[in-house]
Amino acid sequence: MRSAIVSVGTEILFGQIVNTNTVYLSRQLNELGIDVIYHETVGDNPGRAKAVFERLLSQVDLIIATGGLGPTQDDLTKEMAAEAMGVKLVPDQASMEKLRETFRRMGREMTRNNEKQAWLPGEKDGRMFPNEGGTAPGCVFEKDGKRLICLPGPPREMTRMFESHVKPYLENLQEAVIHSVVLRLFGIGESSLEDALLDLISNQTDPTLATYAKEGEVTLRITSKRKRAQEARKAVEDMEKQVAERVGEWIYSDRDESLAEVVCQKLVERGITVSCAESCTGGMFASRLIDYPGISAVFERGLVTYSNRAKMEELGVREETLLRFGAVSEETALEMTAGLKKKTASRLCISVTGVAGPGGGTKEKPVGLVYICADLDGWVVCRQYRMRVVSRSWNRNYTVLHMLNLINHMLEGRLPAQIK
Ligand code: ATP
Ligand code: MG
Repeated sequence: MRSAIVSVGTEILFGQIVNTNTVYLSRQLNELGIDVIYHETVGDNPGRAKAVFERLLSQVDLIIATGGLGPTQDDLTKEMAAEAMGVKLVPDQASMEKLRETFRRMGREMTRNNEKQAWLPGEKDGRMFPNEGGTAPGCVFEKDGKRLICLPGPPREMTRMFESHVKPYLENLQEAVIHSVVLRLFGIGESSLEDALLDLISNQTDPTLATYAKEGEVTLRITSKRKRAQEARKAVEDMEKQVAERVGEWIYSDRDESLAEVVCQKLVERGITVSCAESCTGGMFASRLIDYPGISAVFERGLVTYSNRAKMEELGVREETLLRFGAVSEETALEMTAGLKKKTASRLCISVTGVAGPGGGTKEKPVGLVYICADLDGWVVCRQYRMRVVSRSWNRNYTVLHMLNLINHMLEGRLPAQIK
């Protein structure tokens, strides 16, 4: 947490008193692990005091102001703090009563101007700190994760209030527990994701949502910072549910794993043997699986059948099919997978053929056109994809992600939704 200390008082600017409050508070905050990044002093001038608060509020999370809490006209710290924070002061009945009682005990009449000392932030805007050594209570304003604390100027009152009320309050803040969950999504672009979650992203202060895209996969981090770990976990869980209601079909991991890791884990866990025949990805898919430690238990064979001849010789694709429909066609993909199955008998066989570009595209077979065909225990799925064309390597990488995505869905007995 970053903080600033503001001393309010023209006497300090005149050099009439030594600013011991700032020294005391700096030491205390540092001991609490709160960084003090500014010391400011401002005279008893409402406009300037408010301006100082406003500026610091954009730079720090916590401001502690001392001085100017008394009953007189020039005591205006609390009023300016409320304005800068954008909250209203309300009369606090308990404090008002206590003030009256103090005056009764002293045998003095309570003048009207004293009442303003009992005007404090309302329940939802902060809280009061009792003054055990004087009349003016202190308080904290809380809004949008920012805090502005007002303490009395007289050092004895201030230190006492700090010790018995402010310190415990700050210690409590410091204990906050951070819990976060990282969701990984595929098939939805970062901007579509942001669009689907716009209100959640812009309205929430806790949990917070942050998206970022990484090589075709999108990451969404949900973070909550609460006093108790349980509260933070619950807040994140609730948000995760809301997110899942909107974009659940694209989420493939809630543990920050890559798509390849998720797929490989399932294949190994379930002991599903796997082989692949790749044309346009040129071994990239096999390589991605082989990155996963332990895949040897299930990975049988990876073929790069790039030429027509290789497709025929290695996989038994018929020449007639290649001539009639072309190497990049559903028919060829189906025959590639069927041939692979025959050759390897792997439970999962997957083949891919496509136009990786940048050249080689035609009107009917544009760059980015890809067929992926998978056979899982006899369940054969062949899909056509039209990749957004970026670069040859990007197309290949994205094609591999689609292969993994298809398998990931098939392993759950489902098929992936259309790309968004
Ligand atoms: P009061 O109710 O006494 O008016 P206040 O909260 O309005 O208290 P100020 O009027 O600003 O506070 O200051 C009261 C006295 O407290 C000052 O005359 C000075 O002796 C002392 N004081 C104020 N600010 C500081 C400071 N930063 N360091 C040391 N002493 C201070
Ligand atoms: Mg005063």
